[in-house]
Amino acid sequence: MRMLKRRQTIKKYTSMGLFVFLTACASGPRHLPPADGVKAGESSSFKNMVPASQLEASAVRQYDVMKQKAAKGNALAPDNHPQLIRLRTISKRILPYAQVWNPDSKSWKWEVNLFVSDQVNAFCMPGGKIAFYTGILEKLKLNDDEVAIVMGHEIAHALREHARDRIAKEQMTGLGANILSQALGLGGLGSQALGQGMQVLGLSFSRADEKDADLVGMDIAARAGYDPRAGISLWQKMGASSKDKPAEWLSTHPSGETRIYEMQRNMLDALKLYAKAKNTTVDQLPEYKL
Ligand SMILES: [Zn+2]
Repeated sequence: MRMLKRRQTIKKYTSMGLFVFLTACASGPRHLPPADGVKAGESSSFKNMVPASQLEASAVRQYDVMKQKAAKGNALAPDNHPQLIRLRTISKRILPYAQVWNPDSKSWKWEVNLFVSDQVNAFCMPGGKIAFYTGILEKLKLNDDEVAIVMGHEIAHALREHARDRIAKEQMTGLGANILSQALGLGGLGSQALGQGMQVLGLSFSRADEKDADLVGMDIAARAGYDPRAGISLWQKMGASSKDKPAEWLSTHPSGETRIYEMQRNMLDALKLYAKAKNTTVDQLPEYKL
């Protein structure tokens, strides 16, 4: 009887602790979406349970390891590689608009690298570490607008902190009370998953995250003066190229007409930003040609 009562008391305090902790976490910094541009809404507050600094430090380590391995295998494009110069030129135009969606990104040490590989792939790690594979540029013959859309999409995953949010949610569902006691006692949430060698690259995002990255990516590319209609042609190219074998990018990015439909639905907002960047109006914009 006494034992039972004690257990109930522990349970009561544990759930109280959970409540207090979650309340504290949920009151972390909020990044309000800009008043103009696409209507992507606020990003989830779950992510505040994972310290951004730890995740970013872990991402930097993984990125550096990737670069070192690639360099050993002669697969890291040198600074004078024409495609790398092109990627860095595009990133210089896009990155000033990153802060519109995430003011903390001002302090990120952005980096753009090109890996020589047949893979049709690209990513941006938390903290702003961007990578493209030569496969995506060459196989899909991407024009600059399309490269900007891919880059915008990947940067958007980082800006909206989808990885951080994903880790937080996985910890909540997977590790439950252990994580809670660890969080309330030693260290913080996040340290456990990161300590276990959480593979930032291996994360796959939810459909909601992908839609969010499509819209926010299109938004920042348009602000930088890249045609957001390239998002449609990009997905068409991607679909055509992967009839037989799905591209690597597609294996982590659910494809389909729904995505094109969602981009179309938000196109006018993105076109307004693009027209503004081009010093014109939406009506005066030339037709988009493939
Ligand atoms: Zn994505």
